Amino acid sequence: MQLTNSANLAQCPLWIGGEWLHVNSVPGSPVFNPSTGDIIAQTPMCTAEHVNTAVEAAANAFPAWMEMPSVERARIFFKFKTLLEENFEDLVRSNTREHGKTLVESRGDVKRGIEMVEFACGVPSLLMGENLENIARGIDCDTIRQPLGVSVGITPFNFPAMVPLWMYPIALVCGNTFVLKPSEKVPLTAIKIAKLLEQAGLPKGVLNIVHGGRECVDALLTHPKVKAISFVGSTPIAKYIFEVGTKHGKRVQSNGGAKNFIFLMPDADVENSVRGVIEAAYGCAGERCMAGSTAVVIGDAAKKVLPSLVDAAKSIKVGRTDVEAQPNMGPVITRQHRDRVAQLIEAGAKEGAKITADGRSVKVDGAPNGFFLGATILDEVQAGMTVAKEEIFGPVLNVMRFEDLDSAIELANKSPYGNGASIFTRSGKAAREFKHRINCGMVGINIGVPASMAWFPFNGWNDSFFGDLHMQGKEGVQFFTQQKVTTTRWFSFGEGDIWHREPKI
Ligand code: NAD
Repeated sequence: MQLTNSANLAQCPLWIGGEWLHVNSVPGSPVFNPSTGDIIAQTPMCTAEHVNTAVEAAANAFPAWMEMPSVERARIFFKFKTLLEENFEDLVRSNTREHGKTLVESRGDVKRGIEMVEFACGVPSLLMGENLENIARGIDCDTIRQPLGVSVGITPFNFPAMVPLWMYPIALVCGNTFVLKPSEKVPLTAIKIAKLLEQAGLPKGVLNIVHGGRECVDALLTHPKVKAISFVGSTPIAKYIFEVGTKHGKRVQSNGGAKNFIFLMPDADVENSVRGVIEAAYGCAGERCMAGSTAVVIGDAAKKVLPSLVDAAKSIKVGRTDVEAQPNMGPVITRQHRDRVAQLIEAGAKEGAKITADGRSVKVDGAPNGFFLGATILDEVQAGMTVAKEEIFGPVLNVMRFEDLDSAIELANKSPYGNGASIFTRSGKAAREFKHRINCGMVGINIGVPASMAWFPFNGWNDSFFGDLHMQGKEGVQFFTQQKVTTTRWFSFGEGDIWHREPKI
């Protein structure tokens, strides 16, 4: 689609070297309001030339930004945090408009992003090095941390505010400059947030924004002046980013997709576990990498929990999120994605799963073109089924039944993914066993979505993460810096200087 800049559409400029640039000469990709199906903006699909200009701007801004004391860099982020809070509701509404999640969910998205900024304000203390006196007589050794240079962030559609903020606040306070490529499906909130950072006093060229798809991403992955790449998205693309980026000598952290298990033990509190599963499976319409997409029901838990779970899923009210009267669940991101999820439900039924709640025929008054799907449950899912293998990324909960904890852990540990897993139980022994043996990086005990907060690593394992150092927390700071080790010896005046030594008589 050729890009048009109609007055009815939101603007989607690039930000390069401190200038907001409107490009019309490239194809556009539609941004929808998923509640209505209306196109609200068009994302310009940038070329390698645009990318080159942005990387050059970031490279030019790097020396002065790196020399700025880290506490001064952090002060800009203190102001940024205040501006984010002052503009909170505007960001929330923008987020909901382009993504479709409810206002409550958007508030969570923006709040989690602000927590990343709070963490970044404290980064100077994590930049401190170490030293050891007298590693040999009269010789000391110390380490300092220095930034890498131009860093890049490529982000997915499902957290328009939070995921970009996982990346550039830490990178920038560490002294790097940055080029962000937000998802072409949700670029508008990322732009609004960047304008607040500009208002907070960020020097020109320190953060730059380009938009686009494969061509734009490939140009970022291979640009000789890019030193580090932070990626979040689906597993096949995450793997591609890691392989191409590292082949071109970049440091890469690459978060992929997931399928997360929620174990329900026979002794679990029914009310709390039903609430936990419902929230984990259907929050953000299931479009979360930490969505609890499979309920692993053990022994008697099936009898105790499943009837209430089905009732709770059926009572979820789906509707428009761009209005004041909020539903429990909003639409998914595009019509194409809605249809893909519906096809997967159909495939599940054909392969033998039982549909105990079916959201496919949901209708929303006054929004015939919105991308809606109701809460769906597929019971008696078996390991080999398509729905058990593919990340569905929609409001669909698989139910798998097991006799005991051992066989359930064995099955879960065969998953190629490894973001999160939770257990609902009253038994400390079962919880400990689960925490010890489960093969994933973020574990929940009586918590449905164990997504780690800003101070801890966002800790995917297996095919949910490619790289060594995760986003967030200390690992985030380590990722965006390199250490320098200095070994020092000082001589007494004249000592060891053979040319000025007094001749021995
Ligand atoms: P996606 O992989 O389609 O897109 C992510 C980014 O990659 C976007 O910026 C997109 O423009 C770019 N991209 C897409 N195709 C590309 C290609 N062929 N070559 C180069 N770049 C390409 O993901 P999405 O649909 O936007 O987001 C949903 C996915 O993200 C889910 O799989 C979800 O689990 C995952 N996710 C993971 C985490 C995590 O931390 N592990 C967090 C959020 C989302």
